[in-house]
Amino acid sequence: MALPATFNDFLGNSLAVEHLRTAIAAGRLPHSLILSGPSGAGKYTLALMLTMAVECERQPRDLWSNGQSLASFCGVCTNCTRIASAANLEEQVEAAVAAREELRETDKKETRVLVQPHPDVLIIPPDPPQLLIKLGQVRTLIQRSHYLPSEAPRKIFILTAANFMKEAANSLLKVLEEPPDTVHIIILAENPGELLPTIRSRCGTVRLGALPVEEIEMLLADRRPEIQPAQRLLVARLAQGAAGKALGFDLTAYTAARADALIFIRNAAASSSGSADPDHTALFRMTETYRAGAEGQQKTAALLRSLSLLLEDLLLLSAGTPELVRNTDLRPELERLAAALSFRWIEQASRGLDQVQSGMRRNLLRNLSLDAFATQLAQS
Ligand SMILES: [Zn+2]
Repeated sequence: MALPATFNDFLGNSLAVEHLRTAIAAGRLPHSLILSGPSGAGKYTLALMLTMAVECERQPRDLWSNGQSLASFCGVCTNCTRIASAANLEEQVEAAVAAREELRETDKKETRVLVQPHPDVLIIPPDPPQLLIKLGQVRTLIQRSHYLPSEAPRKIFILTAANFMKEAANSLLKVLEEPPDTVHIIILAENPGELLPTIRSRCGTVRLGALPVEEIEMLLADRRPEIQPAQRLLVARLAQGAAGKALGFDLTAYTAARADALIFIRNAAASSSGSADPDHTALFRMTETYRAGAEGQQKTAALLRSLSLLLEDLLLLSAGTPELVRNTDLRPELERLAAALSFRWIEQASRGLDQVQSGMRRNLLRNLSLDAFATQLAQS
C-alpha cells in the first residue's frame, strides 16, 4: 500500500486535514494529539502524512487565496521516503514480530514490537499476542523523547491504538504532562473513550468522520472496477463509511462467512416457527468445518462478525428502518427471517454474540465451541 502522493489525495475529512496542515505550517501542531475515527478512516495514513509534513527537508507550503499557509511534504527527500516506507503497517508489524521470534527465549520476553522507519520517528503498535500497548513500549518512548532529534526537526511517536495496559497508560500520562518541545505524540483511537480521561484531557483531539455511502460507491467504481455495480452498494454499506476498509474489502471471504452465519439464523427461525422439527444437519456440517488453531480462529472471527451484521440488519427491519440495512442484497430473505423471529430473540442473540466476541478478544487463544454457541442461540 502506498501513501497518497499529496494531502489532496487523502480521501474525505478535508476540514480536519486542513486544520492540521494549518497548525503544522504555523508551528502549532499539539505536542500530544489524538486522531480518532472508525477503522479504515485513514488515521494511520494521515498520521504518516502529517509526520512527513513536519519532518520534510523541503517544507513545501500550499498557499490559499486567503493567504493561509498549509503544510505539505515533498515525498522524495530522505526523511519523506524513510517515513513513507512504514505505509504498510501490517507488513511492518509482522516483520518485527518475526524478528522477535528469532530471539532467545529470555530476550523474547524483554523485546517489544516497535517499527522505526526513521531515527526520529517511532511507531508503536499494540504488542501481540494480547494486542495491548505495553509498559516496555512506553518506556522506550519516554527514554527516546529525552534525546534531541538527530536527522529531522522533531521526534515523532505514533501509537497506533488506544488500548494500553494499565501501567503503560499511567506511564504515558507522565510524558503527556510535560512533553519536551521537540516531541510530538500521536495516538490513533477508534474509540477515544477507551483512553484514561486524564490522557484525553492532555491531548488535542481531531476526529475523522465516516464518508457518505455515495462517495464510497464512487471511489469503488474508480479504484476497484472488478466489483460489480450491484455489489458496490453492499461493500459501501458494510465498510460503514471507511474508505480504506471499502477499498480492501474481501467480498468473497465476507460472502462465505455470511453464508455460514445465515445457517445459524435460518436454524433458529425454523426452531421458533415450530411447524416442523428443524433440521440441524446443515448447522453441524457447517460448524464442523471450523477447526482449532490460528486459521480456524480467523474464520470463526469472520463468521461472528458477519453474524453480528446480520442480526443488526434484522433489528433494523424489526424496528421499521429498512433503509439502514447493510446486507442490501439479502433484503427479501432478511425480511422473511425478521418476520419469523421475535424481536426479543434477535436482541438476546445480539447480546449473547457481543459477549462471545468480547470473550474472544480478551482471550485470543481460546477456541470457541460453535456447537455450544449454536445451542445457546437456539435456546435464547
Ligand atoms: Zn520531503
